[in-house]
Amino acid sequence: MDHYLDRLKNGTLKLHALEKELPVQEAVRVRRAFIERETGVPLPRIGDFTFDPSRAVQRNIENMIGAVQIPLGVAGPLHLRGDHAQGQFWLPLATTEGALVASVNRGCVAITRAGGAVVRLIREGMTRAPAFAARDVAHAVEVVRWVEGNLPRLQEAAAATTSHGRLTGAACYLAGPTVFVRLEFDTKDAMGMNMVTIASEKAAGVIEQETGARLIALSGNMCTDKKPAAINMILGRGKSVVAGIQIPEAVVQGVFKTTGPVLADVNYRKNLLGSARAGSLGFNAHAANIIAALYLACGQDAAHVVEGSSCITTVEQGEGGVYVSVTLPAVQVGTVGGGTGLDTQREALALLGVAGGGDPPGSHARKFAEIVAGGVLAGELSLLGALAAHHLARAHRDLGRGKA
Ligand code: NAP
Repeated sequence: MDHYLDRLKNGTLKLHALEKELPVQEAVRVRRAFIERETGVPLPRIGDFTFDPSRAVQRNIENMIGAVQIPLGVAGPLHLRGDHAQGQFWLPLATTEGALVASVNRGCVAITRAGGAVVRLIREGMTRAPAFAARDVAHAVEVVRWVEGNLPRLQEAAAATTSHGRLTGAACYLAGPTVFVRLEFDTKDAMGMNMVTIASEKAAGVIEQETGARLIALSGNMCTDKKPAAINMILGRGKSVVAGIQIPEAVVQGVFKTTGPVLADVNYRKNLLGSARAGSLGFNAHAANIIAALYLACGQDAAHVVEGSSCITTVEQGEGGVYVSVTLPAVQVGTVGGGTGLDTQREALALLGVAGGGDPPGSHARKFAEIVAGGVLAGELSLLGALAAHHLARAHRDLGRGKA
């Protein structure tokens, strides 16, 4: 150990190169010891983890020193009536926000008692939008026309890089002489950002070669990845999903201690009016909460919470109850790749019946997306109910602020 610590200190061994000289477990231990020694901060808990670091250092992390742990709870059973997600589900939720799991659980109770929520995948397609510089606007329009007339050429180039991914479309947008080509892919069970980035590079090369436009950036921000964006909200990105349920008045009163008209009024004034007044892209109560907890539990890319949060929640009073829905245009989920192969995350996916590649390919990711919609519906219902009954502060006082 001391030999490596000395070499790290005198610069003859780089921190990131430890795995080249040592087995992964040992490399992680030496790196942690070096950081402990440099900072004087002991890190025994960060060093105490159960998943196999070999996979993590290959695919998920550089300069690994250990792992942080997040408590995992379950909410459910949640009854869903989807095209892909059918039956009762226990949602794995990783969070440090006291009261969140209890809240989602209450939403699950209402949904299940009301007979289950209808959930539907509306569309799917992961996007990457390279930016090209044309000579002038006339050239830019020529580039657009070439792309529009040559999708098969781009598909052929993209297909050489992946066996599961398929380029399905290329939509062009101009800003003067800059051309953005929003390439869209079917990525099956993968969330797909690595897959589509690699395939997009090939397609972008063909565009450069055939049109003379210059590739400026493989990502030109019209993708739009990990930023709140109207384009994702309107056109969709990743999976677009919707969930809805008719909740009888007796269930509203029994579970939420409020009434349907009050619930609808809170949703109108808060989620719709309040969000509009604030210029928000999310017309919901806390969709990001459920998405973050599910994504962390299931090995998803946590930065995609920002896109998932663009959700619209509706509550309409009807005969004998309320109709509640959530629409999520941009849910980025995968059941292979990324963090889904880490042991604990894979177990969480298994709990939902979606670990690994589906049969047929794509079926697991579609099912997972519908489950996300169902979970968000449960969370929205419960928070609206708590606000309507003026129980929000009490719930957080009782559950989120335990005695120290
Ligand atoms: P990935 O781990 O890079 O690739 C997943 C691979 O799994 C696919 O390329 C595919 O191989 C293979 N595969 C096996 N069975 C499959 C199935 N049933 N369905 C689909 N693919 C299957 O994962 P990714 O989803 O493409 O990318 C996710 C990662 O990208 C995350 O770690 C995320 O944080 C990161 N990310 C990257 C960027 C970027 O710009 N590169 C941006 C944001 C996030 P074949 O392709 O050979 O078929």
